[in-house]
Amino acid sequence: MKVFTQKSDLLEFVTTESKKNSIGFVPTMGALHMGHFSLFEKCRAENQICIASIFVNPLQFNNKEDYEKYPRTVDADILILEKANFDAVFIPEAESFYKDEVLPDVNLGSLVATMEGKFRPGHFEGVYQVVNLLFKYAQPHFAYFGQKDFQQIAVIRHMVKTEGHKTQVIASPTIREANGLAMSSRNTRLSPEEFEKAAKVSKFLLNLNHTIPVNASDLKEEFNALTHSLGFTPEYIEMSNPDTLEPIEIRTNQAAVICIAYQTSTVRLIDNVIWTAN
Ligand code: AMP
Repeated sequence: MKVFTQKSDLLEFVTTESKKNSIGFVPTMGALHMGHFSLFEKCRAENQICIASIFVNPLQFNNKEDYEKYPRTVDADILILEKANFDAVFIPEAESFYKDEVLPDVNLGSLVATMEGKFRPGHFEGVYQVVNLLFKYAQPHFAYFGQKDFQQIAVIRHMVKTEGHKTQVIASPTIREANGLAMSSRNTRLSPEEFEKAAKVSKFLLNLNHTIPVNASDLKEEFNALTHSLGFTPEYIEMSNPDTLEPIEIRTNQAAVICIAYQTSTVRLIDNVIWTAN
């Protein structure tokens, strides 16, 4: 597997390869787990050339401590990518990555009025910038993202359209621990006790009673009570239209995504569940 640290080397590689092959790309921040691996497997099955990136992007962290404490396990990550039979990985340095780049103005409007956009100001603007540049140099035909970061996929799709990339964005389901907790690189910072407690929040989410009508204010009450009882701090539970992310106050039979965020004593966790129309 080739390891690139320079944008120009990555671009040279893909320019040659994309003449005959489809390029699949999986952007990550590293500390790889089975959630990432599921994206690698899908990418591998659907493309001739597979490339991942590992980059803890400073622009998307609105919390300095979260950035500094974000787990970094590059050597182990490279072994995982080799196991996934990837052709290349791009691991840039933050300084060289943004050097000599003119970053576009970003206006995400109502896409970021709720949930992560509201609670992490600037986060999605940073995601927009990094993925735009990654696509510029990796030039993927297909790029793979996890539904665990539901709002992120909407932001990326908007970015692809606005910046004129020819990449098709593929969304892939959330992979969970045996106890139901959504896998996340941040889970390594949970104590064993909080790991089990956090799984209870995921179980609550996955087992929500969706007998209609579902009232957003009832969900909020139940979610707040549960998280408080576990010693966590709730941030939000939102029931939204999966396409527009517009909030749904009372669900009758339309499709909906229920997204949650809360703080444990060490980390902030997110999760979601998608309900199809019935
Ligand atoms: P990250 O390294 O956290 O930026 O994640 C890189 C990609 O992996 C993103 O598209 C995430 O949505 C995806 N991802 C993270 N956790 C999971 C999971 N548990 N299941 C599926 N995809 C995931």
